[in-house]
Amino acid sequence: MGDLVVGDWFGKAIVDTGVTMLTEPFVHDFVRANIWHLKGRDADLLVDTGMGICPLAPEIVMSAGKPLIVVATHIHLDHVGSLHEFPLRMGPKMSAAQFDAMDDAVTYAHMFHNLDAAVSKLPAPDWRAADYRIPPAPLARALEEGDVVDLGDRKFRVLHLPGHSPDSIALFDEADGLFFAGDAIYDGMLIDDLPDSNRTAYCRTMQRLLDLPIRIGLGGHGASFDDARMREIASAYLRRRERFMSAP
Ligand SMILES: [Zn+2]
Repeated sequence: MGDLVVGDWFGKAIVDTGVTMLTEPFVHDFVRANIWHLKGRDADLLVDTGMGICPLAPEIVMSAGKPLIVVATHIHLDHVGSLHEFPLRMGPKMSAAQFDAMDDAVTYAHMFHNLDAAVSKLPAPDWRAADYRIPPAPLARALEEGDVVDLGDRKFRVLHLPGHSPDSIALFDEADGLFFAGDAIYDGMLIDDLPDSNRTAYCRTMQRLLDLPIRIGLGGHGASFDDARMREIASAYLRRRERFMSAP
């Protein structure tokens, strides 16, 4: 295991006009989530904040004189780890009170403690997964279905899309079709068996997504997808659940 140079923890790629994707290539793929940074006219937007193993804020190029709005799509460890680093933080109304404490039982941070090969490179010589903690990050604003996150030149509608977690929200630019999906949907293995997952709710979310007119979907994990691919992923999930329900 080679030593890591500070600053090398995050991978970065430009994905859509004005959108940068940050990832954490050295964390276990189970918790390797996408972080999205988008420049707006009056404000910039960060969607999710990774594990918080290394500071995220120094990696984000701020626009002079513009606020950075930071939205957590749900309160799972791989999305809220660095949330406390950003003052203008927003998250789901449903779990808003829990951002004050960031209990392991809610974020599932404890799952990371016992993960084999939690990281493939050590962020610091004496780093240990067992010491991993997520600092509290009380929300400046709680978001629910129908709310708008306004960047000046574009507005994102908040969608409440439960199933993976009860509090999962997503951001949809109705004018442009850009969709930040969080863990509601992404191109990869969807997780619906956590203690707070709900498969019935997830099926309703997938039904809703079948009709959402997106141009590009940027999910909490995996590669970006278009509307056809999103419908495929949603349909495949619904078929799988149907087969399971009708199994003898
Ligand atoms: Zn999650």
